[in-house]
Amino acid sequence: MKIEQDCVAMIEYVLKNEHGEQIDASNGSPLAYLHGHQNLIQGLEESLLGKQVGDEFTTTVPAEKAYGPRAEELVQTVPSNMFQGVDSLEIGMRFEAQSDQGMHSVEVTNIEDDQITVDGNHPLAGMDLTFEVKVVDIRAATEDELDHGHAHGEGGVQH
Ligand code: ZN
Repeated sequence: MKIEQDCVAMIEYVLKNEHGEQIDASNGSPLAYLHGHQNLIQGLEESLLGKQVGDEFTTTVPAEKAYGPRAEELVQTVPSNMFQGVDSLEIGMRFEAQSDQGMHSVEVTNIEDDQITVDGNHPLAGMDLTFEVKVVDIRAATEDELDHGHAHGEGGVQH
């Protein structure tokens, strides 16, 4: 069986950034995903199409097919009184912020007196990502999985 639309595949993976630093890895707990339902970033899913159990490969996904380019309009400077209740504001802290598009996560990237710069980009936006992947299982999806648009069971969504 090869990976195709509407199958559930399990993969082991190591994710590295463009500097070769490891960002994430499955670490012996393979990830199960439903192919063709945008469970994975586009570039990774494309590279998995047609692969079989036991296949191992390395693929570098450009930012456009990963988390997209950085958007400078998501970087904003706000007054520190927006952070009432935070004892000591530090660069690198992450907060949930309300915007027109709903809740999203922002990171504090600069502090100058009472002016706080926050960045709402995904931490991996603008980065080319390299995945080392091994396909460990492929099976047909269940009706429930197709209804939900994701994989259930081991390595999948538990609910
Ligand atoms: Zn589900």
